[in-house]
Amino acid sequence: MTGLSDSFQRPINYLRISVTDRCNLRCVYCMPSSGIHQMSHQDILTYEEIYTIARVAAELGISKVRITGGEPLVRLGLPELVRMLAQIDTIDDISLTTNGILLGGYAAELKQAGLRRVNVSLDTLKPDRFKNITRGSGNLYHVLEGIATAELVGLNPVKLNMVVMAGINDDELLDFGSKTLSDGWHVRFIELMPVADQEAAASRFVPVSDMRKRLEQLGELEPCLPDVGNGPAKYFRFPNARGTVGFITPVSEHFCFLCNRLRLTADGKLRPCLLSNDEIDLKQPLRNGISLSGLKQLIEETVARKPRRHQLAEGYVPKDRPFSQVGG
Ligand code: SAM
Repeated sequence: MTGLSDSFQRPINYLRISVTDRCNLRCVYCMPSSGIHQMSHQDILTYEEIYTIARVAAELGISKVRITGGEPLVRLGLPELVRMLAQIDTIDDISLTTNGILLGGYAAELKQAGLRRVNVSLDTLKPDRFKNITRGSGNLYHVLEGIATAELVGLNPVKLNMVVMAGINDDELLDFGSKTLSDGWHVRFIELMPVADQEAAASRFVPVSDMRKRLEQLGELEPCLPDVGNGPAKYFRFPNARGTVGFITPVSEHFCFLCNRLRLTADGKLRPCLLSNDEIDLKQPLRNGISLSGLKQLIEETVARKPRRHQLAEGYVPKDRPFSQVGG
């Protein structure tokens, strides 16, 4: 194995795989109000195609894979993909990002298939508010049940991602913070990115510096190391808490210098950066019978095209695809 690194000497060892553009929720901060144009089934990579790309990427040095979407659990047979990816020797970490609605029914099978850990999006603990944030499409109790089942079957850690929005859920910061003390939750507070509705995002934006000040009403936040991974979150702990508090600052303080990722969209485009429109098609070359060394070259080319950093702070928001199609 040679190991991949980009033109800024960042090691690239992490592939995020979006397995579907479909989602069973319609979250206001993620989906545009106009809805999205759905990909057709023939456009979506098959599990075999995803496996081939992951295997070649692993030969180049990818050792961590995260499955995302859309909502990955709405794609039928997801545990089978996990099983296939788990057979790739050099991939040592398979994780999932999900809204948790279907997690309760799948957690045990996913764990058995080789899934190690899971991140669940959870923006509120109030059922009515959950309905509003998801435009009426979701039931909070299904998510809470999914989280409990994931913990029970040994997916570890279960991390909860809360996108904090002024006037929508920022009054729950302390409730989420308290859960790191009472229930050992690992909560990551994420700054709202202007990917669905730029104007609304500007007025709803809460910087991590504010979140942190408010959370410190519960006690001093002591820096700590993450249990696994070396992602973009900075981690802290309240004194004697079992759980952790993470902060993710895509807007107020980019962390692109740490970026170790490539992103594969459900329709087979490999993206060097979440927040740029650039992408290289792998699907058509695969379906045209490209050799494995040809596929390797396309992956290396994508790595070489990784930009130094995204331009959100300068007001640049990629518009070619809705966020839910790239797999945040
Ligand atoms: N459906 C899955 C889920 O809900 O976790 C996976 C896809 S979702 C696009 C991945 C992550 O992107 C979620 O944690 C979500 O909260 C985050 N996200 C979506 N829109 C965002 C925004 N405008 N700002 C910050 N994070 C966002």
